[in-house]
Amino acid sequence: MKGYGLLQVYTGTGKGKTTAALGVVLRASGYGAKTLMIQFLKDDKGYGEYSAAKFIPGFELMQVGRDCFVDFSNPDPIDLRMMYEGWALAKEAILSQKYDIVILDELNIGLFYKMLPLDEVIAFLKNERGKTEIISTGRYAPEQLIEIADLVTDMQSVKHYFFAGVQSRDGIDH
Ligand code: ATP
Ligand code: MG
Repeated sequence: MKGYGLLQVYTGTGKGKTTAALGVVLRASGYGAKTLMIQFLKDDKGYGEYSAAKFIPGFELMQVGRDCFVDFSNPDPIDLRMMYEGWALAKEAILSQKYDIVILDELNIGLFYKMLPLDEVIAFLKNERGKTEIISTGRYAPEQLIEIADLVTDMQSVKHYFFAGVQSRDGIDH
């Protein structure tokens, strides 16, 4: 273990949260670190990082979700169950102290929409992470998560080509 052990949060409505976390994966792999990324609310093997994972030493990527629209105002029980499954995997991975870094991609969104018990998640991330660095990404990070974090970056959207009609591009947006 590298002995990292801090809690980072990448939030905000601007683009760059997941790709910033993937940048950490690349950088840390240069030092032989082991990283697990759990992508909540996703089942899409078309993501570049999914195909690239096997080329990055020490990097594991898991998607826990299904490939369909999630109605956050009224989540389907299947989506709730998958969120819980992802969180159970995250806890197991963190407690195992097998990974230098565990990235919880879109956890912030899951917490914001109350798909997971906020108090439990906060208590766990605060007290149980040991030497594992945690990076939690997604819009709308709740205040309680920001309070316990060691680093919070708020990505601000100034412009996005999406609003000029540019659709999601291979290798840039997914
Ligand atoms: P990325 O994965 O590109 O780093 P992200 O993790 O910051 O983006 P998400 O909220 O996870 O952002 O959304 C991912 C997708 O939505 C990407 O295709 C991204 O280009 C797009 N996106 C991100 N921010 C915006 C925005 N402000 N307006 C429109 N689309 C956005
Ligand atoms: Mg993202």
